[in-house]
Amino acid sequence: MLTCKKEYRDIPFSHRQHTHSGHCSYIHGHNWGIEITFACKNLDANGFVIDFGKLKSIKNWIESNLDHAILMNESDPEKDHILKSCPSAFKSYIVDNCSCEGLAFHFYEVFSKILSEDTKSRVFIVDLTVTEDSKNSATFCPEL
Ligand SMILES: [Zn+2]
Repeated sequence: MLTCKKEYRDIPFSHRQHTHSGHCSYIHGHNWGIEITFACKNLDANGFVIDFGKLKSIKNWIESNLDHAILMNESDPEKDHILKSCPSAFKSYIVDNCSCEGLAFHFYEVFSKILSEDTKSRVFIVDLTVTEDSKNSATFCPEL
């Protein structure tokens, strides 16, 4: 198996952990990062695991869904109230769990699907790390 890594840095979006007992329950933002380790058994015609120049579908997905967005949990009881209070003020993206860990898992699922379509399942993800600013991170590693 061969691997390569791609990092997406300084993606600004906000979130809130409504069940947290501390300050994480308030809407707040980070500059997020997503680092993906791609793998394959057979290189492409150029000798690459994946041609980074052709990863526009992941970059476009990040820009469309995350850039300057607010991420909230589906189960957040204030979600509809907050988002509907001023619809023009929010670009929302709803997930099961907007913690670093929850996002690592969610992005793995989303990007795996995109990757499978783009590479006809030749390339897969062996780990995906989400960083919150420069201090905190969480990694999802699928059981292959
Ligand atoms: Zn946070």
